[in-house]
Amino acid sequence: MPLDAPVSRSKYDVLFEPIQIGPKTLKNRFYQVPHCIGAGSDKPGFQAAHRSIKAEGGWAAMNTEYCSIHSESDDTHRLSARLWDDGDVHNLSAMTAAIHKFDALAGVELWYGGAHAPNMESRQTPRGPSQYASEFETMTYCHEMDIDDIHDVQGFYVEAAKRARDAGFDIIYCYGAHSYLPLQFLSPYYNKRTDKYGGSFENRARFWIETLEKMKVAVGDECAIATRFAVDTLIGEDGVEIERDGVKFIEMADPLVDVWDVNVGDIAEWGEDAGPSRFYRQGHQLPWQKFVKDVSKKPVLGVGRFTDPEKMAEIVRSGQMDIIGAARPSISDPFLPQKIKEGRIDDIRTCIGCNVCISRWEIGGPPMICTQNATAGEEYRRGWHPEKFPKKGSDDAVLVVGAGPSGAECARVLMERGYTVHLVDSAEKVGGHVNDVSSLPGLGEWGYHRDYREVQLGKLVKKNKQSQLALGGARLSVADVLDYGAEKVVIATGSHWSTDGRNALTHAPIPGIDASLPYIATPEQVILGQKKIGKKVIILNADPYFMAPSLAQKLHQDGHDVTVVTGVELGRYMHFTLEYPNMHRMLHEMHVEVIGDHWASKVEEGRIELYNLWGDGSERRYNGPGRMPRNPNTSHTWHNFDTLVVVTGRKSNDELYRGLKERKAEWDKNGIKDVYVIGDAWAPKLIADSTFEGHRLAREIEEPKAQFPKPYRREVSVFGTPYIPGGFTDIRYEV
Ligand code: ADP
Ligand code: SF4
Repeated sequence: MPLDAPVSRSKYDVLFEPIQIGPKTLKNRFYQVPHCIGAGSDKPGFQAAHRSIKAEGGWAAMNTEYCSIHSESDDTHRLSARLWDDGDVHNLSAMTAAIHKFDALAGVELWYGGAHAPNMESRQTPRGPSQYASEFETMTYCHEMDIDDIHDVQGFYVEAAKRARDAGFDIIYCYGAHSYLPLQFLSPYYNKRTDKYGGSFENRARFWIETLEKMKVAVGDECAIATRFAVDTLIGEDGVEIERDGVKFIEMADPLVDVWDVNVGDIAEWGEDAGPSRFYRQGHQLPWQKFVKDVSKKPVLGVGRFTDPEKMAEIVRSGQMDIIGAARPSISDPFLPQKIKEGRIDDIRTCIGCNVCISRWEIGGPPMICTQNATAGEEYRRGWHPEKFPKKGSDDAVLVVGAGPSGAECARVLMERGYTVHLVDSAEKVGGHVNDVSSLPGLGEWGYHRDYREVQLGKLVKKNKQSQLALGGARLSVADVLDYGAEKVVIATGSHWSTDGRNALTHAPIPGIDASLPYIATPEQVILGQKKIGKKVIILNADPYFMAPSLAQKLHQDGHDVTVVTGVELGRYMHFTLEYPNMHRMLHEMHVEVIGDHWASKVEEGRIELYNLWGDGSERRYNGPGRMPRNPNTSHTWHNFDTLVVVTGRKSNDELYRGLKERKAEWDKNGIKDVYVIGDAWAPKLIADSTFEGHRLAREIEEPKAQFPKPYRREVSVFGTPYIPGGFTDIRYEV
């Protein structure tokens, strides 16, 4: 159904009412707030395609990520947009043009970071309200602004706003959430000044108010002025509190602002804003956000991982906010508004709140990925449309073995393309290891990954009677696959946790670890209740993500005394997914003891020998063959346990794939043209990357060497040549 076609009145109609924001009209209440994707101004094709696919999917406005107003605020190693010069205007105008084609608005979030931007590319010294060292960055201080500096920086905002207008943006932000410059002036946490820009509320608000006034004079007739404001920085009176400065600032700035974008928190712990589902449910910021409507006469929007249309409609209807802001739900499903409008609620690809999208920006640089939506970040460079697929390229029937994230996604996309697919799994349910993972405390919403594929596969199998979903049978053997009768075979058999202690530190098993012993358990054995767990548990961990902390939480809740011995930083990847601070608070509350920087040399019944990773000598010298170049490690000590849980590493279930490769000579006579391996069976990886691999193979299965990806369109500036492949205003989807 075309987007503008009349639909009967529904409980969601309130979400489709237009609303005025300054000189512009939002055609409905779905608003993609600024969020990072790793495109910035440097990858205009990626930027234009990622944002405009949401415009096609019915969102009324799409914003850039944070956009630097001057080289004095350069966030390298992370990637922001920039509006420093005409080149940036040119590149970002690809985004605005692509969005305008769908009758939607384009916004830009003008940003100056102060000490929170390390300026590693530009090497300039950031300016701030007072001199402080960033609590977010390493070794970055700012210079305290004098009055000349204040006027300079306000001038940067104005010049950038004019460039934003010239690039075709409809909404221009003065970004004061996440502890960036305007908020640094407002918050006594940063602002220690004693002049007219510090001290009283009025003084602390002055920088932001003046900047808004200047931006409004410069571009306010043509563009809507937005401000993003952390109405509570969650550190009490030391920062901005909603009841004090929060509400007062809204009242004071209201005449200058056309639309408020409100959230909570700061930059060092911005997981309090982009709340992971492990800790926060949808709408978790509403207790603060709903204050704003009481004092503002302007439209108010905010985020809260809104995925449920009922909740969205209720928020607007009850007047808590006027517009539903979304970052992650728009990444996970760019067609969310259209699906709601058409009543296709069960087709929504619901964000699972894992924050893997954020992890890539936090790591710095690479394009954003999404666990649920394999096409996120691939719109331009691979030409992938999230809802449209190229027709099948042959009549080959495909057998997919394994219905985990990779196999289920591969089968789904193959069926969307019109292939006949048999998806076979010995498990009773689609989902593979997501079924285990989503049973861990706090990770229930990760099950949406399975649910989406389960529903879609069910529909597709109904449509294509030759396709099949065969669950709960015997495991397929090499002979079964050879005899199956499929022309193409995809092996997606997943991985398992090591049973012998093999790990990333020593790349070897640990003597004495054998998960067939009654006192040693793998994560699967714990989750599936296959082992009796004793009172005193040691978790031996060499995995940098969620498994060890989640098992510690589960076992604590089940009444065990838990110690985690870890050879890698516990939950290191959770820094990037913003789960780290609350994960550590939680382990602390549970009295889970964490012994870091230690690893195991051997295990006996009831005890494990540990050594300090730094226990060998710091002096390195040549000692001759067979002798270590450092003093031997003598830090070994024994520790008792009732049960040892081994989270040491994962290993592919690749026997079926390797068995088939060994019998390649028989493929032809069995009608098999090719066999592929994807997901964890190829090598263990993030759920997002397994899903991507399944999707990628399904799109490229006709390629002669489809096991390996086709090259993608790169956006590089070729030395001496004004070169942008494909022409960035011409986004080509493979449909
Ligand atoms: P990935 O993350 O790569 O998609 P998972 O471990 O989540 O992998 O899923 C693998 C799935 O494959 C599991 O559901 C498992 O039951 C299934 N499986 C593994 N080997 C076989 C086999 N030989 N026959 C049928 N199903 C299998
Ligand atoms: Fe949601 Fe995870 Fe996708 Fe981010 S990566 S949009 S949190 S599903």
